[in-house]
Amino acid sequence: MEARNLSARYGQVQALAPIDFQVGAGELVAVLGPNGAGKSTLLRAILGLVTNAGEVAFMGAALPRRNPVAVASRGVVLVPEGRGIFGPMTVMENLELGAYRLKDRHERQRRFDRVFELFPRLKERLGQTAGSMSGGEQQMLAIGRALMADPKILLLDEPSLGLAPRVTDEILETLGVLNRSGLPVVLVEQRAPQALKLAHRAYLLSLGRLVAVIDPREVQSHD
Ligand code: ADP
Ligand code: ADP
Repeated sequence: MEARNLSARYGQVQALAPIDFQVGAGELVAVLGPNGAGKSTLLRAILGLVTNAGEVAFMGAALPRRNPVAVASRGVVLVPEGRGIFGPMTVMENLELGAYRLKDRHERQRRFDRVFELFPRLKERLGQTAGSMSGGEQQMLAIGRALMADPKILLLDEPSLGLAPRVTDEILETLGVLNRSGLPVVLVEQRAPQALKLAHRAYLLSLGRLVAVIDPREVQSHD
C-alpha cells in the first residue's frame, strides 16, 4: 500500500497533515503517537471514512477515495477501535457476518478453521453472546471476524485498548503470526514497545503530523 500526500479533515479542522505512508508486501507497520495524534484519522483516511485528499494505491491500483465498501471489497479490512462486534449476537453469528459475501461452503469452512487455529478460545465459545465475553476475547473475535473477510491487508486501531498486559501480549503475538504468514498489517498502538517488537517500520504521529519514521532495529529496548 502506498499513500501519497494523504490528508484528512473534520469540517474545517485539518486532523491529518499530508503524509506519505507505505506498507510493503508482508510488512507489519506500526503507527504510534499520543492520544489525538491522528492515528485513527490516518486509518479512516485510507478507508475513505473521513474527508480526505491525496492518493492511496493498493496492490498497484488506486483505491477509491469516497467509497468504503469498494475499499473493503479490495481486501482492505479494518478492526476498528472499540472492536465493532455485535454484543447481543453469538460468536458464531459475528464470525459469519465477516464472511457474509461468501457463498462457497468449503472456503467458508477453511476460514473458520484458520480463525480457530489462531484463537482456539473462540471455538469453545461459539454459542455464547459476544457481549458476555472478556475484553480480550472480544478483541480476538473482532480480529477473527475481520479474517473471515479474507483480508489482503489488515488495519487495526488500538487492539490493546483496555486490555491487561498478558492478553495484550497474546493478541499482539498472534498478529505477529498472521503477519509472518504473509498478511500485511497496519497496527495503530499506544503501547509502543510491544508494537516495535513486531514492526518492520513505525510512523510516529503527533498533533496530526508525521514526526518520524522509525526503524525498530535502531531502537533499543529497555524492558
Ligand atoms: P482515539 O482513541 O482515536 O483518540 P477519540 O477519543 O479521539 O479516539 O475519539 C473517540 C470518538 O469520538 C471517535 O468516534 C471520534 O471520531 C470522536 N471524536 C473525537 N474527537 C472529536 C471531536 N473533536 N469532535 C467530534 N467527535 C470527536
Ligand atoms: P488518535 O487516533 O491518534 O488518538 P484521532 O485520529 O482520533 O487521534 O484524532 C485526531 C484529531 O482529530 C484529534 O484532535 C481529535 O479530537 C480530532 N477528531 C477525531 N475524530 C473527530 C471527529 N469525528 N470530529 C471532529 N474531530 C475529530
